[in-house]
This record gives sequence, structure tokens and C-alpha cells, in this order.
Amino acid sequence: MAEDKESRYDPAAIEKKWQERWAADPKLYAADPALHPVDDDQSTGAPISTSKPKYYVIEMLPYPSGQLHMGHVRNYAIGDALARQMWMRGYNVLHPMGWDAFGLPAENAALKNDTPPRQWTLGNVAAMKRQMQRIGYSYDWATEVTTCLPDYYRWNQWFFLRMYEKGLVYRKKSKVNWCPECATVLANEQVIDGRCWRHEDTQVELRDLEQWFLRTTAYAQQLLDGLDKLDGWPEKVRTMQRNWIGRSEGTEVDFFLAPDDIVGGSTDEPVVVTPPPEAKRIRVFTTRIDTIFGATSLQLAPEHPLVAFFASFDSALRNQVNMLLDEQKKAREAGDLGAIEKHGIPTGKHAINPYSGEQIPIWVANYVLMDYGTGAIMSVPAHDERDFEFATKYGIEIRQVIQPVQNQDEAKLPFVSEDGILINSGEYNGKMCAEAQTLLQKAAARSAFGEAKVIFRLKDWGVSRQRYWGTPIPFIHCERDGLVPVPDDQLPVVLPENIEITQQGGSPLARVPDFVNVTCPKCGGPARRETDTMDTFVDSSWYFYRYTDPKNTRAPFDPAKAGYWFPIDQYIGGVEHAILHLIYSRFWTRVMRDLGMITNDEPATRLFTQGMVIKDGAKMSKSKGNVISPDDMVARYGADSTRMYSLFAAPPDRDLDWQEDGVAGVSRFLSRVWRLTTKYAPIARSAEMAQNSSETQNGGAALRRKLHQTIAKITLDFEGRWHFNTCVAAIMELVNELQAADAQLASGEIPAPVVRELLTSLVLLLAPFAPFLAAELWEELGGEGAILRAPWPKSDPGLAKEDEIEIAVQINGKLISVVRVAADADAKVIEAAALTDEKVRARSAGKSIVKVIVVPGRAVNLVVK
Ligand SMILES: [Zn+2]
Ligand SMILES: [Zn+2]
Repeated sequence: MAEDKESRYDPAAIEKKWQERWAADPKLYAADPALHPVDDDQSTGAPISTSKPKYYVIEMLPYPSGQLHMGHVRNYAIGDALARQMWMRGYNVLHPMGWDAFGLPAENAALKNDTPPRQWTLGNVAAMKRQMQRIGYSYDWATEVTTCLPDYYRWNQWFFLRMYEKGLVYRKKSKVNWCPECATVLANEQVIDGRCWRHEDTQVELRDLEQWFLRTTAYAQQLLDGLDKLDGWPEKVRTMQRNWIGRSEGTEVDFFLAPDDIVGGSTDEPVVVTPPPEAKRIRVFTTRIDTIFGATSLQLAPEHPLVAFFASFDSALRNQVNMLLDEQKKAREAGDLGAIEKHGIPTGKHAINPYSGEQIPIWVANYVLMDYGTGAIMSVPAHDERDFEFATKYGIEIRQVIQPVQNQDEAKLPFVSEDGILINSGEYNGKMCAEAQTLLQKAAARSAFGEAKVIFRLKDWGVSRQRYWGTPIPFIHCERDGLVPVPDDQLPVVLPENIEITQQGGSPLARVPDFVNVTCPKCGGPARRETDTMDTFVDSSWYFYRYTDPKNTRAPFDPAKAGYWFPIDQYIGGVEHAILHLIYSRFWTRVMRDLGMITNDEPATRLFTQGMVIKDGAKMSKSKGNVISPDDMVARYGADSTRMYSLFAAPPDRDLDWQEDGVAGVSRFLSRVWRLTTKYAPIARSAEMAQNSSETQNGGAALRRKLHQTIAKITLDFEGRWHFNTCVAAIMELVNELQAADAQLASGEIPAPVVRELLTSLVLLLAPFAPFLAAELWEELGGEGAILRAPWPKSDPGLAKEDEIEIAVQINGKLISVVRVAADADAKVIEAAALTDEKVRARSAGKSIVKVIVVPGRAVNLVVK
């Protein structure tokens, strides 16, 4: 095809030109007033004064792997379209970007390539930043946050110390994955099928190590309640969080150790053993206290302290318990504790039901966990599936204590419904389940052997990592003073550089004497620095607050600035972060609120989770060889086509199957926009600048109607549904109509002010989706300043309104014809149009019209006999 250079859309040239211009204007994407500090220490507390309403939009910050993938491109294109449109709508927009820069891959890379983690990470940051700039995302780089730099992670340490003061930090023994070959702790992702990722033949062990925890459970109820108010979050995310927090209401009740059983030793040599006082009461948690008269055994976790007590004078029991522990360990290592084959051992001891005085046998069972509830359960086989299975296997009594209200003889066990009546339950016989629960709880409280209790599935957050590339935990171990927090004025505890990463023999930091050997801040004696680092989810729990005040050296952020910007108006990211990141950051927000730093309870008002980018129906992966590189697409079709395709090819919340043909199609479309606009730009530029000069013109009414309908549709979509795919389709339709009117445009039949309005608005509508081309054409049309700051076009309802509408005409309920009438036609006019229609007349000829029903704007029904 012979095209002269003049009329060819050249994205490479256009995008290079604008990328350079934008790079030369660092305040282009800055919010008002600029967050750009004059010096590096900017914690003035100055209130933000602007007449514009604020809008805070962010996409979840990436891990700097070194390469953007298509999922990133799409995720950021969604947020970028929104940010640009909000700027154009006159909002004061904060649209930042940062790097979740700590984590294991940097250590792996260091091991593999002999590159220090810091160098590797910062190199990747620079590479990805270049990619982002090439694609033209509207980030204010002055607010960039890089979590692996001391100016950021010192505040992780500062928060850690504040939480410690509030009793939200503690240490306890906890199970970790341990590779005996590496002699180090492994992350869950380093355990593959129960084996070490680096030693395929080595079974990973679970070891008990002292670990640091954050008390997330202190906020369990608040985290749950807050979900009810988050109606700007996807329902699926709220449901996932509710399940994760897992609230159960029930009763804690004490069974008593039967006194006869406190005899140990063998039958030949009985020994009287005095149980410790705490062993005499065995606390269980149950959601079904109404079934307690049906409890026919008590089941203890193998790690329950009472089991250790029994085993201390019973070596046979000790051996059997060790087997159960082994089974639990294997199931944990295989990652599926729920699927464990249920085993138990009778201890020969008995417990007393506090309500009935009945003695029931005590068992140890491998499916009871010490870290859920109290580590002890009452087993009610008649009314619980799992207990039924266990009792059947071991021949334990199954005693029905709840009866259905109707069809009492047909009750099949286990009968698990709470819609029933108590039987075999002493004084509670005849009560309904719910009533019995209340009465039994009250009785327990009265006699001080139990109480109503709420428990959560949510656990405290284990933040210890025995690795190098993370935030050092700011504590010192002193032989004299125990745990000593690092004083604030000694922060940050800086990660040492040039360390040797072997991923063997424990934390690399423990092998750096300069780091480890310190002076105790309390007694001045020699002490040891903590060598654990923090989970990287700490970094991402509060980074978006730092964006509001990224250079602050005196505090994590200025409360006035965070107060202005928070909560985030729109947060965008993958649904894979629905649980951990979004629970941790909601927890962190509440902690900061209780520290008096912020006033918002939740970090983000609205959350959007985009779909995945796939290829040929499958997730892109190196092993499948179906990875599409953003760089390739941008080089071939330009950034505008690549990002616009990622918005056009599917609704943003759905998966997108990448088709290169589609990108080429979008590129051809942009080429048409370019040709059309450059061709008629001289006419547009010649138009008078006077406002509304086009109001008096008649030419081009149909095109203006299409334009104003398009503006209305896209504006509405940005506010709610975000079906950017249909927005792009609407722009395509508008361009089709403009092209179809080529003769009228060329002949001057359409007045210059209308041409100006049409082309200017087209370019403005395109700006959120194809920012490079829009900027180029804006300049071509003589637009002033950055298109980003030009006002978003307004739809005029009068102009958008159709002149004529179609009305269906039915005879006796059957569609006969369609008539065209003026859009504002009244019932009489519509009726007349229907009755004079050819087809209607033919059908009703010789018959009488009994009734005419007009539904204005919709239909006419004729009843004919
Ligand atoms: Zn290993
Ligand atoms: Zn000391």
C-alpha cells in the first residue's frame, strides 16, 4: 500500500517525542500542592490547601523482578485510565508507584549470579521504571517508595517498637520448616512436596523455634465488623476475609479429671501421682453446648499438657503419642492437615461432665490441634460427622440427645441440625437447642466452670524470617536484661552490605560480627543483635501512607498529609492479595489509628480486582512457552495500542486471552484516528474560539448527537461499571461515523466550529486510553497545555437526545410493524402513526379496532376483532 510518510501513523516517533517531554516535566503528574519537597526533610505539617476535591488512586506495588509482565501492563492501564480521567474531571489526583523490594528472589539471584541483593534489586527497579515510563503511566515519581531502602524500612522498625510498647509484639515457640541439609529455615514456597527445593532428596522437618509475632487477633472482631462497611469492595473478597477471620460463637466449659485416675505406674507397682492443679480442669470449646449430654469421650491434642503429664508415668502411652505427633507432623508437611486419617488412643483416664457428673474416657487424637480453640474437644458422635466417624471406628458409645421436632423416629445419625429438641439431657429435656444453649451457658457461668466464648480462626501474624533481605527486627538480646528494644535514636538498624549469601547454616546476618555484636543500650554490657528479619508483608502493610509524605525523615508520614489523602479512593490489584496483604494492611491501619496517627479505620474505600492476562486459555509461563513480552508488543505496535488493547479485549474484571491480531487491530484503529484528525485539524484550528458558536449551526447534527451520546456513555462507565472495553468500542463507533461523513467534512458542509468540537472531544475521550496519541493530536488541534489538565468533555443531554425513536406496534399481542416518531411524541401522535402504518392497515382491514394501548416511548398495542 502506497502511503506517503505524511499520512502514516508512526507510534514510535510520537511516543518517543512525548516520553521525552513528559520526562522533562517532573511536576506533570504531581498533585496540588506539589508533594515535591524543596529539601529532603519536609515534615512541616502544612495543611494541603486546594479547592479541588482529592482523588487517591493506586495500583498495588510490584515486586521488582526486573521485567513487567502483561498482567502488570493491564493492571496499571486500568489505574492510569482512571487517574487521567479524574485529572481531566478537575480532581486533585495522587497516583504514585513504588517497589515491594525485599524478599527471597534477591537472595536466590545473589546465590546464582553472585550479585549482591541490593544491586540486583535496584537494577531491576531501574529497568521496570524505564518500562513504565516507556508505556507512559502517569506516576508522580517524586513520591516513589522503595521498601528495601533504609529511609523506608526504618519506619517498619519504628512501628515494630510502637507495637511492642502496646503489647502487640511477642515471641513464642513456633513451628518452622527446616532443611537439615541447608541447616536453615525454609519459606513455605521453598518446600516442594515436603522436600527442600534445593535438596530434592531431603525431607523438610518441622522445628520449634522462637519466633516474633504481631497480635493481629487483638483486632479480629474489628477486622470482621469493618467488612460490613466496605461496600466498595468486591463481595468475593469480603467473603474470603470473613472466612479467613472465621468467627465462631460457642461455650468454653471445664471437664474435671476423675480423681480415681491419678494413679500411675504399672499394675504391679502402682504409684500415686498428684496432678498439677491446672491439670484438674480440662477446658474444651464447643459451638454445641446443647449436645453435652451426648459427649461420650473427651479428645485431647497430642501436644496437650495433660497428655504430657499422663505420658510422664506411662511409657506405653508416651510411645503411642509420639506416633500421633509424627502423623500430625507428616500431614502438616504435606500441607493437608484436614485430610489426615483419624487415629486415637485411649489414655485409660476419665473426665467428669460438669453438668451430669458422668465419667467419660479421655482419648488422644491426631486430628485435634493444640493451636485451635483449647486443644481439647468433647466428642458427641450422635450430632457431629467427624465424631461419628471416630466413634464408629473405635466402638465408642453413640448417644442421641437431640431429636428433630418432627418425624422423630426417622432421625438418622449423626443428626447435626440445631433445629431440634433435647432428650436424654436431664433437666434440659424438651428444650429447643437454642434455648438450651443459653441455659447451659448460664449454668456454667453460675457454677464457674465455663462461659460463653467467641473464637477466631485468624491467627497472630508470624513475622520472623531467618533471612537476609528484609527489615532487621530492632531488638537486642542481653544476658542481663533479656530482650531490649533498640532505642528510637539508633534507628534504622541498617542491613549490612557485602554479606555472603549461602542459604545454609542459618541467617546470614548471624555470620556478620559487626552486625551481631553490640553494646546493650540498657546496661552497656556486650549483647547480641537479633538476626531475624521481617516478613515482607510488613513492607506492603503501610506503604501507601508513605506515598503521601515520602521524604519525611522525622516520622513515617505527616498525619495532616495522610489525613488529606486517606482513605484511598480506589485501590486496584489482583484477587490473590484478597487475604494476606489486605488483612495485614487493614490491621496496620487500625494500629496506626490507635497510635493517633490517622483517623480512618480502613485503608481503601473502593477495591477493584482485575482479571488475569492469559494466552490460549492458559496462564502465561516460561515452561509453557506462551509468555507475551510487553517490550515486544510496544516495539511492534506502540505503547498506546498495547495498553488500549489490554482495556479493549475484555472487561477489566475478567480474564483476558491475549491475541496479537487484536493489538494490530487497535493499532489500525489509532492509525485511522490519526489520519482523520490530522486531515481536518486545519479546519478545526480555523474555527473561532468563541464558546458555543456551534449552537447555531445545523450542519453535523447527527454527528454531534453521536458524540454527546458517546461522552455520556464513557463518563457513566468511568463512574461505575468500568467496562472500558465498551468505552473503547463506543469511541470506535464514533470514529466510524466521522469517517462515513468524510464528504461532508471535506466539503465544508459541516461548519468549522462543529469540526472543532468533534475532533477535540474525540481526542479528549481517547486521552485516558491512548495518552501518547491524544497528546500529539491535542497539540495538532492547537489545544492548550497538557491534555491531562484539559477539562473532560461534558455531554449535553439535549444534543445527545435522539430526534426520532422506534415504536413497536402489536396487534393482539403480535408484533406487526415498527414506526418512527419524534422522540418527544405524545400518545396521540404515536397512535396516529401506528394506525396509518401500511402493515397495520393491511392487517386490520375489514376488522374493528376495539382498543388502543400506547406505552409512550415503547410500544402500541391494538386489540382487533
Ligand atoms: Zn536444603
Ligand atoms: Zn543489658
